[in-house]
Amino acid sequence: MQTFGNYINGEWITKGDTFEDRNPANTDEVVGLFVKGSAADMDAAAAAAAEAFPKWAAMPAPNRANILFKAAEILESRFDSIAAEMTREEGKTLPEAKGETRRAINILKYFAGEGARMGGHLVPSERDRVHMFAIRKPIGVIGLVTPWNFPIAIPCWKLAPALICGNTVVLKPASASPLSAWRLVEALHDAGIPKGVVNFVAGSGGTLGKALVEAKPLKAISFTGSETIGKWIHTEASKRMLRIQLEMGGKNPTIVLKDCDFNAAVENVVNAAFFSTGQKCTATSRAIVEDEIYDKFVAAVVERTKKLKVGNGMEAGIDIGPAVDEAALKTILDYIEIGKKEAGAPLVGGNRLTGGAFDKGYFVEPTVFANVTEEMRIGQEEIFGPVLAIMRAKDFEDAMRIANATPFGLSASIQTSNVSRVFDFVYGAEAGLLTVNLPSAGVEYQLPFGGTKDSSFGPKEQGPAAFDFYSDYKTIYLKY
Ligand code: NAP
Repeated sequence: MQTFGNYINGEWITKGDTFEDRNPANTDEVVGLFVKGSAADMDAAAAAAAEAFPKWAAMPAPNRANILFKAAEILESRFDSIAAEMTREEGKTLPEAKGETRRAINILKYFAGEGARMGGHLVPSERDRVHMFAIRKPIGVIGLVTPWNFPIAIPCWKLAPALICGNTVVLKPASASPLSAWRLVEALHDAGIPKGVVNFVAGSGGTLGKALVEAKPLKAISFTGSETIGKWIHTEASKRMLRIQLEMGGKNPTIVLKDCDFNAAVENVVNAAFFSTGQKCTATSRAIVEDEIYDKFVAAVVERTKKLKVGNGMEAGIDIGPAVDEAALKTILDYIEIGKKEAGAPLVGGNRLTGGAFDKGYFVEPTVFANVTEEMRIGQEEIFGPVLAIMRAKDFEDAMRIANATPFGLSASIQTSNVSRVFDFVYGAEAGLLTVNLPSAGVEYQLPFGGTKDSSFGPKEQGPAAFDFYSDYKTIYLKY
């Protein structure tokens, strides 16, 4: 069994207590052992990052880019094994893991490409013979805290822009799936990243999170995860006036109108609700359906859901893998019980899957509740599992009102052929990521990513917007 060490100041630290990274589809399998980082490790990592910062920041951005391009090549050469490990540690199906690995490679290349394009502003002055311009500069040491559901893509979409801007980083991956992030750091190490520029400390979120937020050299923190932890980080990091970026939960709606392409709408809702076991932050958890097609739509979604195959994501033909761990499974099953009390028995699903290989994993049936109303907890709270609440709307205006009636605002979708409705939705939906006639989940890296309301705080991630968080401006007025 391999022990995966922490990476501090260019060294792999493999000594110390370990914790297990287990396969949620087969809990007999330990995918790897990880060294449990301490608060002292976090301090050492932050100190190493601070020492490495001036030299890395001074390196021309196109040269920093060469290291990112090389890391992308290395990931490409290890593509199949990285994807398979991701399925084994997180549970998503192998095609989904391959898609995510491809995305990580593309993110590295995209931000590496930005190294040669990192512009500022050059504008004419009102004054004679004054040259005025603004250049981008890095922030310093940045802490990155990531969740388990996209275990390589999220670390990558934080690390790549941070590094290309000239920052140095300390990455704390999720304990449920640290190996994919470790592989990213390994690729950067093998690509020749200078020591101290990237540091990786795995272990308890409580212990390491506190140490990270309190680490003296830290200038900024980027977090993706639950609202509870995000709010805690906001409180603590604000005391030190750290720059903060938080991406948190959602209760994402898909509005289905009577003029939609019916079959495509069913497919889009089922895909967005259940693929990746509903464990995408942009997953649809509420389908808000116009009255006239409500009954027909509910029946079609139930029929389609019955055809989904749940099982070990390494096997061909599986649509849905397990929940990531026992705690996640318990949360999902608890919400199903709440849903039964609030909305009656689910029309499909509602149980943990047992018997044979199911007994070794955290498998749950994809579950559909109908007649959910906006006051119900299953219509308001994030479940983060394969549970879909279907809600009835009188008309488009009612659907929009219901869609916006939660504190969250991550993603939202509409299924319609009416272009005016599309634009009403685009301007009226309270969410940061919108899709039209597509599943609510499934974003690309070339545009800003993030939510609004309680789902997010601070500048957006990805695309050109990533630089708003990972760099600052220096403005220069020069008389010649
Ligand atoms: P989580 O429990 O909040 O954990 C996220 C990360 O924070 C993990 O690395 C965790 O470490 C760490 N952590 C735990 N306690 C901490 C503390 N006191 N201080 C600092 N860090 C701490 O979330 P999760 O269960 O991994 O992920 C699921 C959540 O993420 C869902 O709410 C989902 O909507 C959200 N999400 C949002 C987006 C988005 O872009 N908006 C994307 C993906 C996921 P440990 O693993 O060691 O506990």
